[in-house]
Amino acid sequence: MSLTPHDLSRYSRHLALGELGITGQEKLKAARVLVVGAGGLGSPALLYLAAAGVGTIGIVEFDRVDISNLQRQVLFDSAQIGQSKAHAAAHRLQALNPTLNIQIHEVELQASNVMTIIGDYDLVLDGTDQFAARYLINDACVLLRKSLVSAAIHRFEGQLFTYVPNLGPCYRCLFPASPAENSIPNCAQAGVLGVLPGVMGSLQATEAIKLIAGIGEPLIGRLMTYDALSMNFSEFKFSARSDCAVCGLNPSIIAPQDGSNRCDSKQADTISINQLHALLETDRRNTLLIDVREQYEFSAGHIEGAVNIPLSDLSHTSIAADEFSSVVFICRSGGRSAHACQWFKSHSQVKTLNAAGGMLAWQQAIDPSVLVV
Ligand SMILES: [Zn+2]
Repeated sequence: MSLTPHDLSRYSRHLALGELGITGQEKLKAARVLVVGAGGLGSPALLYLAAAGVGTIGIVEFDRVDISNLQRQVLFDSAQIGQSKAHAAAHRLQALNPTLNIQIHEVELQASNVMTIIGDYDLVLDGTDQFAARYLINDACVLLRKSLVSAAIHRFEGQLFTYVPNLGPCYRCLFPASPAENSIPNCAQAGVLGVLPGVMGSLQATEAIKLIAGIGEPLIGRLMTYDALSMNFSEFKFSARSDCAVCGLNPSIIAPQDGSNRCDSKQADTISINQLHALLETDRRNTLLIDVREQYEFSAGHIEGAVNIPLSDLSHTSIAADEFSSVVFICRSGGRSAHACQWFKSHSQVKTLNAAGGMLAWQQAIDPSVLVV
């Protein structure tokens, strides 16, 4: 799709980048990108995709603007409280870049509509806050052979990964468990630092632009985690599983499935800090406590008896968990350990728990003298 004189002016800073240039900008103009969720992640992702000149942008969102959204959802302003998010978002993006084709899908993605909606796009950005939606979108992208950039946020921590058909693992390769068995509390009520989705949504837009233009190295087979409190980016490499239920050799999922969106089921595998304290007091011998923070964080201060295996080393470290009756994962605030917990559960039969609130909670409730960096 060729550029107009207006485009040449508008995108001149892109055109000046040798790697992107006119060819890359033309690819952006021809691209069709679907953003699922116009919330914290979708806000920056949509704004940057529109500013970058992605020709067709789809928005899946059925919610309305609430005053509590404005702490992080920078697409909206106070005058739009109560309005349809999809329409408010489209209005904002059209004002930013009037030549774009903005498509609204004011529905909740379900097994019955996901194939039709995603089928119309080249690339999908998942900015939802529900596990069931994340699996649904992953499965539809695998089945339709569409690329996917998926992000999630929790309190002070974010995660990001990119799926490209035939080039790497999908979300189920990393987290094979069904949504009902997941352990990461990811409900809107859990709390989130307002700027965190700004970082993660911008990274999603970066990945999308790279994939469309065919430049750089996408985040394929790598789960990137970001801890805003320690200002630390980590990476966790993972591979495609031949037994993956959707992208494996003998897939059992041949059509998208609706899953449970309930929050409460995800709390089951969490242990509170007070419960952990009690467990260590009464049954330490049978409890394996794994601290998945980086080595320098562990060195600064940790719970006595904890074993340090940074999240990025977990997949290639052998853990003799069978000798224990339970394995508890802990990190700084509970985000990284939730990933570890979820991954470990799919590789071990031993009871696996995530220490809610992490070392910060331990410092607050149990041991104020422990140093948490
Ligand atoms: Zn897979």
